[in-house]
Amino acid sequence: MTQEQVATEKKIKPLVPFLKIPDKYPDEPAYLWGSKCKSCGTVYLGSRIACAKCASTGPFEEVRLSDEGEIYVFSVVHQTVPGLEAPYVAAIIDLAEGVAVRANVYGLDPLNPSPQWFGKKVKMYTEKIRVDREGNDVIAAKFKVVDGK
Ligand SMILES: [Zn+2]
Repeated sequence: MTQEQVATEKKIKPLVPFLKIPDKYPDEPAYLWGSKCKSCGTVYLGSRIACAKCASTGPFEEVRLSDEGEIYVFSVVHQTVPGLEAPYVAAIIDLAEGVAVRANVYGLDPLNPSPQWFGKKVKMYTEKIRVDREGNDVIAAKFKVVDGK
């Protein structure tokens, strides 16, 4: 690859290290990944050096995580940095693998928070949120309500 190609080639980067973006993205969807302890089976978000459950230092197996989960807890954020729309719903989402991920949830009215949101089923999607200093598209993982209610 020549210098010129390197300079003009636009890359796609994940906002967080535990979001994997396939080469064929967006034809192939991005997904969350984790590390599974081969000793006890506990799964962690992203990479892991040691297991908190069994103290094993590996090996860990890379696993693809579910793109669906349930809202464990949430809060409504009313103030944010310039350029970000507020209010929005920030949540901790439990995935089927026993892993929790912190992400924003869309499809809920942040001005009318409800206790019924606890346990609500949500599905991950990805969105370009900005272009970084090198001109790369930065992709974030977000969640939306599955049933739309
Ligand atoms: Zn373990």
